[in-house]
Amino acid sequence: MILGCHVNFTNEQLLGSAKQALSYGANTFMFYTGAPQNTVRKELNRELTLKAHALMKENHIDIKNVICHAPYIVNLANNKDEEKWQFSIQFLKQELKRCQTLGVSYIVVHPGSAVGIERAIALQNISDALNFIIEEDAPMILLETMAGKGTELGCTLEEIKIILDNVFSKNIGVCLDTCHLNDAGYDIQDFDKILDEVDLLIGLGRVHCIHLNDSKNDLATHKDRHENLGLGTIGFDALYQVVTNEKLKDVPKILETPYVERAFPPYKFEIESLKTGTFNPNLIEDIVEFYK
Ligand code: FE
Ligand code: FE
Ligand code: ZN
Repeated sequence: MILGCHVNFTNEQLLGSAKQALSYGANTFMFYTGAPQNTVRKELNRELTLKAHALMKENHIDIKNVICHAPYIVNLANNKDEEKWQFSIQFLKQELKRCQTLGVSYIVVHPGSAVGIERAIALQNISDALNFIIEEDAPMILLETMAGKGTELGCTLEEIKIILDNVFSKNIGVCLDTCHLNDAGYDIQDFDKILDEVDLLIGLGRVHCIHLNDSKNDLATHKDRHENLGLGTIGFDALYQVVTNEKLKDVPKILETPYVERAFPPYKFEIESLKTGTFNPNLIEDIVEFYK
């Protein structure tokens, strides 16, 4: 099981992220190179990076399974404001460089939102932007499947396919988010059916990351509100089937479930219940008790 969670990129940078992941019992992790909400980024410290790699090696975290996530405000879909669109492109190019410096192979990117332009044109904008950004020997961008909140693109596998088909490079893949899939109308209870569709349209080999989240909302509600494992509409059993699916056994699974009471990270307990394959009905109480 390649299992991890979202962790912070602290003052200790990747070293801090790795330490946090290990404290949760994870064997991989996902980080943002700064705040998820903005594009302010500090210079990378080589010594901390080397220490992070040493710590990961010692603890059997394979850097190949470590995932970066681009900030939310990057929007490749809308080029009404040419300057903003160019900023998103340039910023992602720099993020790829940062990933390369850190030795990280994958960065998850949200396809973007149309906001006021026609969907088909917005999809083409994403591909155009990606054609500027992607380099053959750079880390791979993974397009994340979205819930379809507002004018979000990439909430169907067909839309993801359209974007990919118009990208010239093959150095691009996909990240499946279980909460987003649910909210977009894909039923996780029949995950193999979803994987068949992914395989048919995109190719299963292009899936390099799974975001493992329960959802606060029903199927096809286009909401995008993550829930702790087993406490949402998807449920523990269906999510456990995702984690243990043979076809995805080499793909990292990353938890992005909410902090309990906005203060306590749930990951140590969620990872534990996935390792043992048993739902913890006292999840919230146990987390509060542990951190309080
Ligand atoms: Fe995401
Ligand atoms: Fe996600
Ligand atoms: Zn989400």
